[in-house]
Amino acid sequence: MTNAYLPQKTKEELADQLVEDYTWELIEKIMMKELTICETCDNIFPYIPQKRFCDECNREKKIAYDRVNREKNNARQRAHYRANREKISARRRKYREENHEKIAERDRKYYEENREKISAKRRKYYEENREKILAQQRKYARENREKINARKRVLYRKKIRGE
Ligand SMILES: [Zn+2]
Repeated sequence: MTNAYLPQKTKEELADQLVEDYTWELIEKIMMKELTICETCDNIFPYIPQKRFCDECNREKKIAYDRVNREKNNARQRAHYRANREKISARRRKYREENHEKIAERDRKYYEENREKISAKRRKYYEENREKILAQQRKYARENREKINARKRVLYRKKIRGE
């Protein structure tokens, strides 16, 4: 085994490390491109052109990449929404108005098919956020006293007149 076996791109440190950590047989196989040493951990895997990392590291890299990408995508969507809030809600409003029947029908069907699940979820949410919800209700009642009273009056009148 001479330096003639060393591929041009191999770094000196990598060669030194190989000599320290691996048997000559292994080193030779790496140099002869039968095996490759992973660039991030020290795993050894069968040589495949362009493959620089072991499967484990590739998997970890992919997970890290997906996470970063997801965060980037979410941030981009949020920024897009913030920048186009008016346009987006106008479009949603328009869609809802034009498809009122369809949406109501879909909601009704969904509710019927998932009644149990929905009420369980609501109950759970209410139990977990009881204080917050009550505080919100109190705040709403305080700030909309007139509106609420007006609605009550209408309901009351309807009731006594049997409208
Ligand atoms: Zn690796």
